[in-house]
Amino acid sequence: MTLPVVPAAITSGTRLYYPNKMVRIILLAMEEVMGRNGLNAVLNLSRLHHLVNSFPPNNFDRHVSFDEIGALMQALDEMYGPRGGRGLALRAGRACFKYGIKEFGPVLGIADLAFRLLPLTMKLKVGADVFAETFNKFSDQSVVLGDEPDHFIWQNTRCPMCWGRKAEAPCCHLAVGVLQESLYWVSGGKNFEVQETACVACGDEICTFVIDKKPLD
Ligand SMILES: [Zn+2]
Repeated sequence: MTLPVVPAAITSGTRLYYPNKMVRIILLAMEEVMGRNGLNAVLNLSRLHHLVNSFPPNNFDRHVSFDEIGALMQALDEMYGPRGGRGLALRAGRACFKYGIKEFGPVLGIADLAFRLLPLTMKLKVGADVFAETFNKFSDQSVVLGDEPDHFIWQNTRCPMCWGRKAEAPCCHLAVGVLQESLYWVSGGKNFEVQETACVACGDEICTFVIDKKPLD
């Protein structure tokens, strides 16, 4: 197994950020899944009152902190319980990809003919690399991608989804949903098993997602 290159330690008090565009995508996706009222209730519970009916602008400025994103995900679990929260976060994650590909597709260059003609294994590899790079380049999230014969290992060495949270079980469900939908899209409609096997909220050092290379169907 390839050991991840862990970036320089984040000292306590360091603020990390997502770009406005990514948070806007998350909120649009949550609104689609829960409705405007449901989303507003979650925003109020997470004390993100400033985002109620006022999404961040559609630009790359890094203005929404990981603390805020972690609080948003936490509120989802508090309001709907861990099971309900997980289901909603997975669905919102899948919806995020749909909005995300519209925004980032032209930057990623994986929608062109040359990409579509690649065999499935290459498509997955190129897609995962490009996708990881997108987070590394445009946000303070840091992704290290490992490539094993049967699976990819996606590691968030800095993960906004569980930032500041404590949980019994891995809780970065929105990230799982985004990965599932990206694999579905890249493979032209196949489903893949994605499992979060370690999570900072559970006391692990890194959030780790194992992605099977063999489709379920
Ligand atoms: Zn996490």
